[in-house]
Amino acid sequence: MILAEDPTAAAVLDAVPCYPVPPSGRSPAIDTLRASRAGHGFIVGSDGMMLILRRPWLKLDYRVTEGPECHAPYGEVGSDATLLLCGLIPGELLVRILDHFRASLPNEAAAFILWNERTGEFSIDFPEIEAATPSRLVYRTPQPGPDCHVICDLHSHGTMPAFFSATDNEDDAHATKVAVVVGGLSYPEGPDFAVRLCAGGLFIPLPRLPFAEAAYAA
Ligand SMILES: [Zn+2]
Repeated sequence: MILAEDPTAAAVLDAVPCYPVPPSGRSPAIDTLRASRAGHGFIVGSDGMMLILRRPWLKLDYRVTEGPECHAPYGEVGSDATLLLCGLIPGELLVRILDHFRASLPNEAAAFILWNERTGEFSIDFPEIEAATPSRLVYRTPQPGPDCHVICDLHSHGTMPAFFSATDNEDDAHATKVAVVVGGLSYPEGPDFAVRLCAGGLFIPLPRLPFAEAAYAA
């Protein structure tokens, strides 16, 4: 079946496919999409349309629409699922990042967590800051090698509360990463956090920080 005659349009549809869910719930095409190392596409079922997004470190199944109001003889897309294939980040990296953020006060600061797919190791990248003030920060996202992935982007709001600003939303719109804002660095009860998964243009709230042994809830 030809989905598009124009080769460019066909390439776009091939890169981001969309498959109906058979009544059984499974098909070879959907299995291949779910098993891909990196990429994304959609499946359409009687209960809605689901984004299936994969990165070497992330598995995301997320229903983006409700089902059609008309009868559709399809199976169900099923429930949402988010899985960090890389596992949780060692808590000691968060301790080091918080030390760095406190040392940068009153200015904002930033840090990235990289994950090496081959070795399974995590590392911190403190980006070169082009401009920093207590309310603004300009820095570049690292460009890691083929085995390495930026999985988490943390920045501080200094002594201000943690929340995602309009600037943060613009910065995160095209990224696939966990974004963390650290605020209240001067609070006696400890900092507070805002955390979300950015993927496919969505911002999905996460119930906790992606760090193991984290002494803090989000
Ligand atoms: Zn911010």
